[in-house]
Amino acid sequence: MPSLYVHVPFCVQKCDYCAFYSHSLRDSSKDLISVYLEGLEIELAKRQKDAPQGVSSLFVGGGTPSVLGARDLERLLVMIRKFFPSDPQREKTMEGNPGTLTEEKIDLIKRYGINRFSLGIQSFDDQLLKSVGRIHTANQARKAIQRLRAAGFTNLNLDLMFGLPGQSMRIWQETIEEAISNSPEHLSLYGLMLEEGTPLYTRCFESNAPCPANERCLLPNEDMQAEMYEWAARRLKQAGYRQYETSNYARRGYECRHNLGYWRGEDYLGFGPGGVTCLNRVRWKNIEDVHTYYLRLLERRSPIDESGEEVLTLRECMAERMILGLRLEEGVHLQSFKNDFEVDLRDIYQGVLERYKNKDVFIIEGDYFRLNPKYAFIANSILQEFV
Ligand code: SF4
Repeated sequence: MPSLYVHVPFCVQKCDYCAFYSHSLRDSSKDLISVYLEGLEIELAKRQKDAPQGVSSLFVGGGTPSVLGARDLERLLVMIRKFFPSDPQREKTMEGNPGTLTEEKIDLIKRYGINRFSLGIQSFDDQLLKSVGRIHTANQARKAIQRLRAAGFTNLNLDLMFGLPGQSMRIWQETIEEAISNSPEHLSLYGLMLEEGTPLYTRCFESNAPCPANERCLLPNEDMQAEMYEWAARRLKQAGYRQYETSNYARRGYECRHNLGYWRGEDYLGFGPGGVTCLNRVRWKNIEDVHTYYLRLLERRSPIDESGEEVLTLRECMAERMILGLRLEEGVHLQSFKNDFEVDLRDIYQGVLERYKNKDVFIIEGDYFRLNPKYAFIANSILQEFV
């Protein structure tokens, strides 16, 4: 059974570091959301056949799904439920920004069966939030957590970021401590990636203008970022969270089912402009333009971005399975690998294993092949060996 992802490509405004496909509603025409919803409804109806047995999980992400008004949000949830009904027990996540999450919207999504909420908090430091263009404040984040709990959400994820310009170790530690004090079931910790084309990239590399966070742009260097990562990993472990993936921590039983599917190489269906699908070793991406997406669907044409369709070779699929699977604490399941690719991973990657034979880089334990956690900091260079 594949998982289902619905992309909502709207935000109040673009954050300075963000390279995801989304439209700032401050700069968009008012009818863009209606056009999006019209297109989405056609796509959902048309592609029901992609999941004849149903879907394993739902993730409504973006962008910022909570930026939709209550009426649009309801329309979105009604159409998902209509074309992809699923068992109430299955994980159903929605992402949101604390600045756009009202009590009315929380009640609504709860009524429509969303049982996991992922809040983009990033930091509990107001100055830092402002300096990277986030629209919310720390107090709004605190309030959003309280409201979600009061509405009965028992599975909350908090997204936090480290490596932000002007972020000191002390500020990062305070954010982690405050996050822990709210007892979320899940935490995702992301290091800032400076992506070309974003305002933050321009500010840091292409202009001489000082970063607003500091007199000079003070991005924490690599060593400091590594320290932030390691400190948080230790502290969260102490607080009872399991680091089940490089950037993800959960109380036992609250690991994100949807994302586990990606890391384990399961099929996924992506809807909406920019949505990515991988089904039976073919991967494609919908066009990143709301109007073109809608018009194509209206004219019964494919909304797929032609340059974004690829038929993956067996070798590419195996490499992906290794690279994503070794990010997981559990590692790669040996028998699943064999079932899917008709070869034992120890045979196909014999060369790599030989090269690391004298080091304890890889561990085989029970049914799993995994990376020794002490090599996590050089994981990227090791994982390249599988490509
Ligand atoms: S809210 Fe999220 S998706 Fe929207 S601009 Fe900010 S980081 Fe990007």
